[in-house]
Order: sequence, then structure tokens, then C-alpha cells
Amino acid sequence: MSTVYGGIEAGGTKFICAVGTSPGDLRAETRFPTTTPIETIGRAVLFFREQQEQETLAAIGIGSFGPVDNNPISSTYGHITNTPKPGWAQTDLVGMIQDALGIPVILDTDVNVAALGEHRWGAAKGLDSFIYLTVGTGIGGGGIMNSQLMHGLIHPEMGHIRIPHDRNIDPYAGLCPYHGDCLEGLASGLAIEARWGQSPETLPAGHPAWSLEAYYLAVGLVNFICTLSPQRIIISGGVMEQPRLLPLVRENVRRLLNGYVHTPQIEEEIDKYIVLPHLGKWAGVLGAIALAHISRLNRGDSASSNYN
Ligand code: ZN
Repeated sequence: MSTVYGGIEAGGTKFICAVGTSPGDLRAETRFPTTTPIETIGRAVLFFREQQEQETLAAIGIGSFGPVDNNPISSTYGHITNTPKPGWAQTDLVGMIQDALGIPVILDTDVNVAALGEHRWGAAKGLDSFIYLTVGTGIGGGGIMNSQLMHGLIHPEMGHIRIPHDRNIDPYAGLCPYHGDCLEGLASGLAIEARWGQSPETLPAGHPAWSLEAYYLAVGLVNFICTLSPQRIIISGGVMEQPRLLPLVRENVRRLLNGYVHTPQIEEEIDKYIVLPHLGKWAGVLGAIALAHISRLNRGDSASSNYN
């Protein structure tokens, strides 16, 4: 039996579980809808038990929707905390899987874990500071700064920054239950759908929705560039599947920065500076496998906060 690692991309709508060591060595994979914690976690445990019969499963990494407690010294480490998702608040995601399988389980946010995947095998190879943003039903951001996964007080909540909102141009009030018109409230996939009465997948490329969306995302990115100075920005998620959007975002970022952050990456090569993930939809589960691997290398340390 060879040694492999397990990865879980724990999303609000679906779970993806896989076993392997790298993008070229995925031994098994499964996905299923996120229902109740007991049913969903039970299906994940069953999948990994089957894998344990064939391989030595050394550890499992989880990239989870949140907010989560990802502080390894906290008594509620590995819990999903105050999520609005029904039934999931205070769920001990790590503990339930660890107890059932008897192997170490480590957890971080979905975006930090996807960032880890991109750092190891994708669009952020060789960088020590970059951010990973996802623009789907919600907006989340994480990444690596100075070779460490971004943590801090809890973890970044980049989707909830406040941005200028001109109600003469965009009268839509925003849908964040906490803030109304924060970035997620104005620019997530659900916000686009609520504003225009049409889901982002069905909005044509020429629709005015896209220039407004590009502007809001660019305002967010400019704030992140000015505060964090990332060496690259990876932007993923279902909303980015509209091919016109990414070039519009880059154009708006340059316009809003107005030459102030004067680097060749932004002035001449912005196409290589703001990019889509190279691992595509696999970034999450592969990042979770990378997290599990690192936790074994750093055994005894707080693995998720010591990524080198
Ligand atoms: Zn918000």
C-alpha cells in the first residue's frame, strides 16, 4: 500500500472528496450535494474508509465554506462557526471526520486551501505573496503573504469590504444580510441575479451588468493591491466564466490605480498579474491534499499556519 492524502472541498452546495498526491496522481474522487451535516459528513467518511482499504491514508485536508475556526490552538478548532447555512452552525467538521477515521484532519478556509493548490501546482508557483479571490454565489478571498497562509484575528473576509456605491448609477441595495452593499452584497453571483432578474450564466456578453460588475470587482482588487501588495491576483468562481469580464476587470484596475502603483506587472503585463486559476475547478480539492501533506511535514507544529 502506498501513502496518499485525502482532500475535501467542503462547499455550501457540494462536497468534493479526493485521494492522491498531486494533479497527476489522483486515485479516486467523488462529489455529492451538501445536505445535513450528519448525512454529508457520513458520505465523506464512507468514501475515505473505502480508500483506506486500498491505500495508507496519512491525513486529510479540508478547505471549507465558513466562517470557520481555523486557529489550531482554539478549543473549537475545525468547527464551522456562525454560518447562515441551516443546520451547519457550530458543526465540528474536523472532529467528526477525525474520530471516524482515526487519522489527522486539518482545516482552513476554502479560499486559503485553493490558494495553496495554486501555489503548489498552478498560477502562483514560486511566489511568496499573492491573493486568491473567488466570485461565485458569494465572494471570498485568501492567499499567502510572506510564505504564510493568511490568518490573523480569524481569517480574511475580503468579500465583505465596503466599496463606493453610487445609487444614481446602481439603485440596487445589495444583498449581504450583515452589510447590504458590501462587495459581496453588490457583486456576487446572487447579487447579479437579484439586480438584473437573470443569472450570470444567461446574461449576454453585451449586457450592462458586466461593466458594472467589472467596476465593483476592480474597486475591490485595487483596495487589496494597495493594502497587501500581492505579487499576483488569482480570480476564480462561476461569475468569471463570462469571458468578457476578466479583461474588463484588468482595464478598470489600471484606470483606478491611475499609474500610482507603478510596476511593470501592472503597467505592462496586467494579463499575467490578474489571472484565472491554472487548476481551474480542481484548485480546492488539490489544495486540500496539499494541506494534508504539509500537515504531515510539519507534524507537531500548527501546520496550517506554518506553510513554507
Ligand atoms: Zn457583507
